[in-house]
Amino acid sequence: MSLMAVSEALQRVLASASGEVLPGAETVPLADALGRVLAKPLFSEYDVPPWDNSAMDGYALHTEDMITAMQAGLKVSQRITAGMAPPALMRGTCARIFTGAPIPAGADTVEMQENVNVDEQGQASFAHALRPGQNIRPRGQDINAGSLLLDTGSRLRPQDLGLIASVGRSTVEVLKPLRIAVLSTGDELVEPGQPLGAGQIFNSNRYTLIGCLQRLGQQVIDAGILEDDPDATHKRLQSLAGRADVIITSGGVSVGEADYLGQTLREHGELDMWKLAIKPGKPFTLARFAGTPVLGLPGNPAAVLVTFLLLVRPYLLRRLGIQQVAPVTMDVAAGFDWKKPGNRDEYLRARLEDGHVVLAGNQSSGVLSSATEASGLVCITAGKTVARGDQLPFLPFEGLFD
Ligand code: AMP
Ligand code: MG
Repeated sequence: MSLMAVSEALQRVLASASGEVLPGAETVPLADALGRVLAKPLFSEYDVPPWDNSAMDGYALHTEDMITAMQAGLKVSQRITAGMAPPALMRGTCARIFTGAPIPAGADTVEMQENVNVDEQGQASFAHALRPGQNIRPRGQDINAGSLLLDTGSRLRPQDLGLIASVGRSTVEVLKPLRIAVLSTGDELVEPGQPLGAGQIFNSNRYTLIGCLQRLGQQVIDAGILEDDPDATHKRLQSLAGRADVIITSGGVSVGEADYLGQTLREHGELDMWKLAIKPGKPFTLARFAGTPVLGLPGNPAAVLVTFLLLVRPYLLRRLGIQQVAPVTMDVAAGFDWKKPGNRDEYLRARLEDGHVVLAGNQSSGVLSSATEASGLVCITAGKTVARGDQLPFLPFEGLFD
């Protein structure tokens, strides 16, 4: 069987996600809404700012009084601080005004205090002529009542929460998180905290995956360890399919005799794709079991990380109706040579050093320490060699985990 290109695999993963129904909606307090996805478009009921206000500490006046203001000066008839509702400005006078304070009716411009001289009698002389509207933040400058603030499918960032608060809303309607079962397959696995017996290794994938899912704000169903046994595999998938929106597994999808997960999905589920031209991560599997999507990740810890970030993350985001799922990618000059072209797209654990991307430690798919030394992944396309200084796409982890 030939290997599927990563770009095609991603298209299929996204198409599959787009075909699923969105999770239901729930109303949450705005303070708990960070990272959540809007279930409805959000419109403003208010103009922001709600009234014309001063952009400066200074003096408000009407431009028709400008000549007097520059020659004889104007009496300061009121003092307006933020939070006040001032009376109208008496014509032929000016108002002392502070940043954020409402412009009184009858004033149409503000001069900054540095350009105004106030004498002992309280007469303010203005050094320069002003145009109407100067140093005034007009009503609705930021937002107009009735306008769209944020659309369905927006994942709320801190500034989005601020924007929503600025129009007076204290709750938002967001999608419920996806319920995602995390299942680690392998007879060799034992949980951290337990003694390590002969032939055993600690289950690290479970933690990598739970961490990734927590960063995406989704609900984890921790399904523990699954033994390498066909009947147990079938039973466990059956029981998880009933209570999870997605099942994410690690291990058991290669071509070995003990890779029962892959076998069970192929024989008793619906296989969508298997075997990609990606390194690490070739055995990545997309399937469905008893109606529930199963994303089968390889067992090797670095392959778990890479396939989660490149395929599972966009899948999950699209399941939440998010359109923008491509990771942040920047072109960086290679700080290394790569002489042997591969037959798969290779995603290497890498970091930035002096404006170059350098490889982080051992790149074997079983090695995780290089992933902790790395700050992202660098991609070398199948068939390509790299000479020091060549531009390569670098995907920072910061852009891949959120
Ligand atoms: P598999 O795909 O099941 O053949 O596993 C490939 C490699 O990944 C083997 O060396 C496994 O021992 C290892 N592996 C599988 N699952 C885990 C896990 N949950 N944590 C750490 N290593 C694992
Ligand atoms: Mg295994």
